[in-house]
Amino acid sequence: MQAPIIGVLALQGAFESHQQRLGELGAPTRQIRTPADLAAVDALVMPGGESTTMSKLLVTSGLFDPIAQRISSGMPVFGTCAGMILLSTEVLDGRPDQLSFAAIDITVQRNGYGRQLDSFETEITVPSFGADAAPFHGVFIRAPKVIRFGDGVAVVAEHDGIPVILRQAAITVASFHPELVGDHRLHAEFLNSLTRTPSHAETS
Ligand code: GLN
Repeated sequence: MQAPIIGVLALQGAFESHQQRLGELGAPTRQIRTPADLAAVDALVMPGGESTTMSKLLVTSGLFDPIAQRISSGMPVFGTCAGMILLSTEVLDGRPDQLSFAAIDITVQRNGYGRQLDSFETEITVPSFGADAAPFHGVFIRAPKVIRFGDGVAVVAEHDGIPVILRQAAITVASFHPELVGDHRLHAEFLNSLTRTPSHAETS
């Protein structure tokens, strides 16, 4: 089986760091700026950045509807920070015209950790890494705060009682920036999950 090709949404934000982390794991990657780019990949990473800007660029690039269609047909997506916001069902404190894919049943509050905590770093225990595993260094930058999650959503990790990594079917989201640290475990988990689900290339 050919390795799945991972698209990294490259309209704005920290996409290059995601591409670098995935490349270091040996995954083939493509930057996604057009619907044709999207058609060539099996899975997608939505980076951190500015969700309101990305929402606008998703519309002007013509990518919003094709991405929504791919998500509804099961394309795996890993969204971080602004990417988490874009994948959420409900966004609080967004711009009124801000769009999201409603791909994971969560409500997030933009910049929900507050002004004083604009940015912070903390150690996050991720139980799926194993009982003795080192925590993951979480870099939170004007991060979204999860304030509700639906029954179908699994909490993969939390910090101070608030979920910071969640998963529903093929959608995984993190409120921090795993691409900015030299720890590949979350990207590796995402890649491993792809080999357990049929890729786009196999199903089409
Ligand atoms: N606050 C940003 C937004 O609303 C997200 C910040 C980030 O991705 N680091 O899009």
